Amino acid sequence: MKQIKTLMTENDIPRAWYNIQADLPVPLPPPLHPGTLKPIGPSDLAPLFPEALIAQEVSRERFIVIPEEVRDTYRLWRPTPLHRARRLEQALGTPARIYYKNESTSPSGSHKANTAVAQAYYNKMAGVRRLVTETGAGQWGSALALACKLFGLECAVFMVKVSFNQKPYRRLLMETFGSTVHASPSDQTASGRAILRSDPACTGSLGIAISEAVEMAAGSEDTKYSLGSVLNHVLLHQTVIGLEARQQFERLGEYPDILIGCVGGGSNFSGFVFPFMPERLNGSKQTRMIAVEPSACPTLTRGTYSYDFGDSVGLTPLIKMYTLGNKFMPAPIHAGGLRYHGAAPLLCLLRHEGLIEAVAVAQTKVFEAAILFAQSEGIIPAPESAHAIRVAVDEAIRCRETGEKKVIAFALSGHGHFDLAAYEAHLAGRLEDQDFNDAEAEQALISLPKTDAA
Ligand SMILES: *Cc1c(COP(=O)(O)O)cnc(C)c1O
Repeated sequence: MKQIKTLMTENDIPRAWYNIQADLPVPLPPPLHPGTLKPIGPSDLAPLFPEALIAQEVSRERFIVIPEEVRDTYRLWRPTPLHRARRLEQALGTPARIYYKNESTSPSGSHKANTAVAQAYYNKMAGVRRLVTETGAGQWGSALALACKLFGLECAVFMVKVSFNQKPYRRLLMETFGSTVHASPSDQTASGRAILRSDPACTGSLGIAISEAVEMAAGSEDTKYSLGSVLNHVLLHQTVIGLEARQQFERLGEYPDILIGCVGGGSNFSGFVFPFMPERLNGSKQTRMIAVEPSACPTLTRGTYSYDFGDSVGLTPLIKMYTLGNKFMPAPIHAGGLRYHGAAPLLCLLRHEGLIEAVAVAQTKVFEAAILFAQSEGIIPAPESAHAIRVAVDEAIRCRETGEKKVIAFALSGHGHFDLAAYEAHLAGRLEDQDFNDAEAEQALISLPKTDAA
C-alpha cells in the first residue's frame, strides 16, 4: 500500500490514521436512536462529543491527518517497539518467528493512551473545559487522566465501586495525573443517587458508571464524554499501532502470516490489524487475523450479530454487533478489560464477512502462557494481553508440529504491573475457569431490543 508508506516520516510516527471505513466490503449498519429506532445523526451525538470526533465517526476518508500536537504527544512513547520474541521461540522449540508490538511502553501502560491523547486534543480545540468518563479496573481512566493533564483539561472518572475499593493503585495513578475519581454509584448524579437510595451497599457496574458519566456530560455546557473503545473514532486512533508495525516489518523484510490480538471492545486488535486489511481485501495477501476473547465472555464466537445497546441501562444508541445481550453478566475473570457483552461494530462487520477469525480461551491456559512469556521475554503482560499470547503460543506449537516457518505477530496491549493479585491467585493455584453456560446465554439474549433492522 504505497500511500501508507509515504505517510510515515523519518521519526516513524504515522502522519495520518488509517480509516477502514473507506475500504469496507459492505456498508456499516448505522447506529439507531434508542427511542425512535431510526438512524441517529451527528446532532444526536453533539451533547456528548466534539464535532471533530463525530466527523471521524462517520468519515469515509481513507487517511485522516494526525494533528501535529497529537503527534508531538505521541513522541512521549511512540513509535513503540516491535520485538522478536526469540527466547519464547526457543522455549517453544518452534520454527515460527514470533513478534510482538509492545504497547505497554505508554505512560499509562497500555494502548489506550493512543486514543486518550487524540480525544483530549479535539475536545480542547472545541473549547471544552472538562472530560468525564467511566472506568472499570482503571486502564482507560488512567490513560485519559494523563491525556487531559497534558492538554489542560479537567478530568472526572466514575470508577466502579468494587474496583475503587479493591484496586487503589490505578485510582492513585489517576489522582497523581490530576483527575477526580468518584466511586460509582456516587452522590454526584441523579442516577447514582437513585441507585444508592434503593441499594446503599451497591458495588456498582460499568453500566451504572457509564450512566453517571453520560449524565454529567449531557448536563453541563463545558463538559463532554469520552469512551475508550468500541466507537469508530477510537479504532481509527489505534491504527497507529498497525501502521508502525507495517513499516517495522518492511524494514525487517518480513510480512506477518498471522496477526493476533485480544478483544474487549476491539480497539487494540482493530488498531493492530486494520492497516494490514487492504492487502487481505484485494487478495494480494492471505494474512490470518485472529481475535482472542475469554471463554467466560465469548462475544465473537458465541454471540449473536444483532442490534443491541452499548450499555446495560439502555441509554446508548443501538449498534449492530456481536452481542451476548446487554444484561449478560460475565464471570469475574481477571482480564477485566475483556468483560464486555458486545464489541466494536467495525470489527463485528469484518468478522461477519469472514475476514477475521475469533477464538475463545480459558483463563488458566491464558495465565500459563503469561508466565511463559514473562519468564522468557521479561515482561509481565496484562491478563488481557495474555489472551493474545496464548493463541500466539498455540499457533507456534502448531508450526513446531508441521515444520512451517510462519511469521506470527501479536499486540501486547499492556503490562500487568497493576494486576499482580491475579498472578498471585494463579501462582497459588486459586484460578478457576469460568465456563460459559448456554442456558445463561439464552437468558441474556432475551434482553435484545427488537428493531426492524435487526
Ligand atoms: C482495555 C484493555 C483491553 C481491551 O480493550 P480493547 O478495546 O479490546 O483493546 C485490552 N488490553 C488492555 C491492556 C486494556 O487495558
